[in-house]
Amino acid sequence: MPDISQWYWRTHGQTTFHLTQALTGHGCFQWYLFKIGKAAKGDCVYCGDPRDDAQHTIFCCERWNSKREKASAKTGGASIDVETIILLMLESEEGWKNVSEMIVAIMSEKEEDERLRQRGEGDKG
Ligand SMILES: [Zn+2]
Repeated sequence: MPDISQWYWRTHGQTTFHLTQALTGHGCFQWYLFKIGKAAKGDCVYCGDPRDDAQHTIFCCERWNSKREKASAKTGGASIDVETIILLMLESEEGWKNVSEMIVAIMSEKEEDERLRQRGEGDKG
């Protein structure tokens, strides 16, 4: 991912936690959980992509298409991808808000799914 510092220093309030996860990839991503030994494999639980990392989650996974589309619509139809996301966030407060809301929405829901999933696996023993 491109220049982290610009993102990092502009973060504030409750968005910081999820944005930092998205930036560093150290969060609720199977690929990361797999690397640190907390998941049996690193592929995406939604679409089966072999590498569920931050980039896959935020930009690629079809599970979050609707959230991406919603954020895109709010930013005048801009495409949100790995090249444009930083610019979108930095060009205006509005852009910042829209993109960070999208990331928070995706990460919150993903974490909740993961909690439920782990509970389910725990039941099986
Ligand atoms: Zn996926």
